[in-house]
Amino acid sequence: MNVPSPVITINQVSKIFNQGSAEEVVALQDINLEIQPGEFVSFIGPSGCGKSTLLRLIADLGTPTVGEVVVNGKTPAQARLGREYGFVFQAATLYEWRTIKKNVQMPLEIMGYSAQERDERANRMLEMVELGKFGNHYPWQLSGGMQQRASIARALAFEPSLLLMDEPFGALDEFTRDRMNMELLRIWEQMKVTIVFVTHSIAEAVFLSNRVVVMSARPGRIKDVIEVDLPRPRLFETREEPAYYNYITQVRESLRDAFQQA
Ligand code: ADP
Ligand code: MG
Repeated sequence: MNVPSPVITINQVSKIFNQGSAEEVVALQDINLEIQPGEFVSFIGPSGCGKSTLLRLIADLGTPTVGEVVVNGKTPAQARLGREYGFVFQAATLYEWRTIKKNVQMPLEIMGYSAQERDERANRMLEMVELGKFGNHYPWQLSGGMQQRASIARALAFEPSLLLMDEPFGALDEFTRDRMNMELLRIWEQMKVTIVFVTHSIAEAVFLSNRVVVMSARPGRIKDVIEVDLPRPRLFETREEPAYYNYITQVRESLRDAFQQA
């Protein structure tokens, strides 16, 4: 039997900023985690516990002080060059002077895709996030939720096997966020992509994830990994299930301890 190899292996990772100086910060300490293909894994924890730092190490936007990160069997730098992941930030980082479609095409331009290929892919991705009719609009003509959907379309333009998302819906109202969560799960199921997701919302983490990784601060460590065994597909009604509330309580209690440690 072939055991699938993990998409991400985080092996004994620590990250220390300004090491040896008075401003030294141990942002991450002794992090060990494997993420398998097709998983949806969320990170939650007090502000400053190193969630963004960890995501950035996976994305090669920083290097561990100790330990190693492996992405698809490669270094994060190699995975970055191979365009093996997409990254979505908290605020939609769209270019104001480009239409939505031109924004989605941007990474494809940089990579030298033909005009036809760019056009086809952008159309496909915009359809997927239900912005098919908005390709010719400018970012300011769209709501915050639509802009964030456009950012997701852009991150998926390469059809990467891995999507890294740092509080992508943090700035949205709760109703829009609930809808975006449904959309994201639909995309995740359709594209069979692995998602690593950072959030402040316990409800969001439980609703979306296979596993919720609870972190504690100073130093940032993994405190608990909670498996969320709710049936798929997750539906509107999932949020009314007693089992869903039980998971929320479990994460909340784990987080409470994480805050007390901090
Ligand atoms: P989170 O995303 O969980 O809120 P971060 O990963 O942004 O936390 O930050 C973790 C810790 O590392 C914080 O104490 C933060 O101030 C510190 N930190 C993050 N980036 C840097 C940096 N480039 N230089 C110095 N300290 C940093
Ligand atoms: Mg952060």
